[in-house]
Amino acid sequence: MDILLADVLGLCFGVRRAITLAEDALRAGQAVYTLGPLVHNPQEVARLSDAGIRALETLEALSGDTVVIRAHGARPEVFEHLQQEGITIVDATCPFVAKSQRLARNLTDQGYNLVIVGHPGHPEVQGILGYAQNPAYVITDPIEVAALPRDTIPAVIAQTTVNEHTFLDMVEAIVARFPHPQVYNTVCSATRERQDAARRLASQVDAVYVVGGRESSNTNRLAEICRALCPATRLIETAAEIAADDMQGVERVGITAGASTPDWLIEQVVATLRTLAGEVPLVNKNER
Ligand code: SF4
Repeated sequence: MDILLADVLGLCFGVRRAITLAEDALRAGQAVYTLGPLVHNPQEVARLSDAGIRALETLEALSGDTVVIRAHGARPEVFEHLQQEGITIVDATCPFVAKSQRLARNLTDQGYNLVIVGHPGHPEVQGILGYAQNPAYVITDPIEVAALPRDTIPAVIAQTTVNEHTFLDMVEAIVARFPHPQVYNTVCSATRERQDAARRLASQVDAVYVVGGRESSNTNRLAEICRALCPATRLIETAAEIAADDMQGVERVGITAGASTPDWLIEQVVATLRTLAGEVPLVNKNER
């Protein structure tokens, strides 16, 4: 049995950087907290917690030497509050998200109304809204464009992880209603690259394991994409979910993983499949 890895899989640049920054702070001997989980993966959150990096849900509960702002970023008031409390801040806001925050501030300073294509409750969106200086809107469906106030001067950006087609549909609806909107495509390529690689992988194999958290939306999307091309696709959180029976009649098995899945979970899946296959060489290498 051959084992193939997707060309691009696993942790994106922003989440990998956030984990590294948090671990660096821990090594410096500080008590480290994050506001919300650092990554959408229960096994990695548990590993970080065991190491001493604890996720808290509210600002009021924060204490200790250091707080890591996760890759999603946070509203300016969060930074102000932490500074007032004398807490050391490690800002792990993904540079791509930071760019959206700067756009929000600059464009609204110029009198535009920020229109974010994304999910209103998502922490990245909530953080970006904090940088808008005047009324701002979040839309998830082109039909919502009709509900924007008539005097809106739109400056349109995207939540970094929305589907690019969705974003372009929204822009089309906005252009049809408002003259000369400012438009910035801030969709991050990490999601698209993993989805494209998953398609390539699923079209070459008999079975696919998608490794990642069951609550992770990007992992679920990868599973949907693979399943459409390879019905024997399974979403698993850990290698313990692999059954030897699953491999019956399988000549080529593929592995991909969500943008929040750490390397060690992927490596455990590879090792388990290699054992089941009787030590076969990897066909291709992960190009992360
Ligand atoms: S998905 Fe993109 S924007 Fe979001 S954390 Fe990862 S690299 Fe940054």
